[in-house]
Amino acid sequence: MVRRVAVVGAGVSGLAATKCCLEEGLEPTCFEQSENVGGLWHYTDQAEEGRASIYRTVFTNSCKEMMCYSDFPFPDDHPNYMHNTRLQHYICKYAEHFDLLRHIRFKTLVTKVKKRPDFSVTGQWEVVTRRDGKEETAVFDAVMVCSGHHVYPNLPLAEFPGIQKFKGCYFHSREYKEPEKFRGKKVLVIGLGNSGCDIAVELSTVASQVYLSSRSGSWVMSRVWDNGYPWDMLVITRFRTWLGNILPRAISDWLYVRGMNRFFKHENFGLMPLDRTSRKEPVFNDDLPSRIACGVVVMKPNVKEFRETSVLFQDGTVQDDVDVVVFATGYGYSYPFMEDDSIIKCRDSQVTLYKGIVPPRLEKPTMAVIGLVQSLGPIIPTADLQCRWAVKVFQGRWLGKCWVKDYFLTTLQTDYITYMDELASAIGVKPNVLKLLLTDPQLALKVVFGPCSPYQFRLVGPGKWSGARKAILTQWDRTLQ
Ligand code: FAD
Repeated sequence: MVRRVAVVGAGVSGLAATKCCLEEGLEPTCFEQSENVGGLWHYTDQAEEGRASIYRTVFTNSCKEMMCYSDFPFPDDHPNYMHNTRLQHYICKYAEHFDLLRHIRFKTLVTKVKKRPDFSVTGQWEVVTRRDGKEETAVFDAVMVCSGHHVYPNLPLAEFPGIQKFKGCYFHSREYKEPEKFRGKKVLVIGLGNSGCDIAVELSTVASQVYLSSRSGSWVMSRVWDNGYPWDMLVITRFRTWLGNILPRAISDWLYVRGMNRFFKHENFGLMPLDRTSRKEPVFNDDLPSRIACGVVVMKPNVKEFRETSVLFQDGTVQDDVDVVVFATGYGYSYPFMEDDSIIKCRDSQVTLYKGIVPPRLEKPTMAVIGLVQSLGPIIPTADLQCRWAVKVFQGRWLGKCWVKDYFLTTLQTDYITYMDELASAIGVKPNVLKLLLTDPQLALKVVFGPCSPYQFRLVGPGKWSGARKAILTQWDRTLQ
């Protein structure tokens, strides 16, 4: 019988985990190495060891109505897309509102998580922590890994011949905080992800020139969509997902590419993804196309070779006098506290998880990895529902004994609504559209054609929230406000 749960990390995932445990009558202990909740969203001037690090100007890509916790809407007066400090403020309010802080042990690093010798019978874990140099060991019935996935930089220098000869400075985007010290410099940013685009655009306001190098292109989307509404409230709807599932693949691909090119033709801007129909996570940047059009950001293909002061690109062009290179090359997954990290990273060091949550090779499903799946949807509601699902699994209320045989390994890239519905159905919180049509047609229409906002997963079943219906009916009012 699972009772005591260790939660590693007090970011948005760890807070959701702690709250879900409390709601289900479990005893969570959340260990957080820093002094604050919020994880990635708690900005610091210096990157801290073992913790995600963001630049000063990070704004959210998901709007407030789509990225809130499902039973805790943002205040009306918040803008649709938020600066990191506002989001951090909301996260703190959430922790206070649900009285989570007293379950968190701050300044406590989890140094080891290992199976107990009798794991195959009990499913228990031994968790070793360190605080002020003092080690402690405790036994838990389950562990929720909420340690974040934007912590360990991927810096593939071996793929960049000549980088050792390069006399300018280079660093990973994790170290980037603000643009001022790059005033007047020539900067090359490598990588066309969200960080690469944000940093290139920001640097272009002070640098003498910015080059942005991409190996395979990316779809670049705007936060502001048709008629100025938030992109995610128009794009992430049940109706669109349903259409995407029933249309022949060729038509759905065509519509997808057309949609992505609606504001500007990616080909003309040197941004076109090599695999145009892959549903790879797009990049959100409202300013990049105009920075390219103004010539202050110049798109470049992959780097072929670094020389002492110049860079040779795959297309044969050379850029001289490059001062700085920012490697916005993403992050790798790492779980340094796992005694046997092949539990999570099984196949060829790739992470494969049952429903994107439970490591499949465990004799007992008493570990959950939260917040790792990637989709077009926001992370907070995803993590929230993952936790609600995981806690039910811990309690043995779902997943038969033959779960390992039955598992399918969700790739980390997944469709948001399909994934959310799958978890929601399993724990009885998926809204029944047909029933709603008969009993509450006004709400049913909002659920089907409107944004798939997180409140939809609080309308029925365990964890039902009495404010969910009203939150759905008024979501556009808060957006406009
Ligand atoms: P984190 O926020 O990284 O928190 C993990 C916590 O665990 C940290 O507090 C850390 O100190 C603690 N920890 C780690 N290891 C240990 C240990 N061994 N012992 C004790 N404590 C430990 N997602 C969106 O949905 N919308 C967005 O707009 C968005 N924008 C983003 C912008 C940037 C620049 C980045 C990098 C990511 C963005 N994301 C966005 C994704 C982001 O990862 C999530 O929003 C979210 O913050 C992840 O939360 P988390 O709790 O899983 O991890």
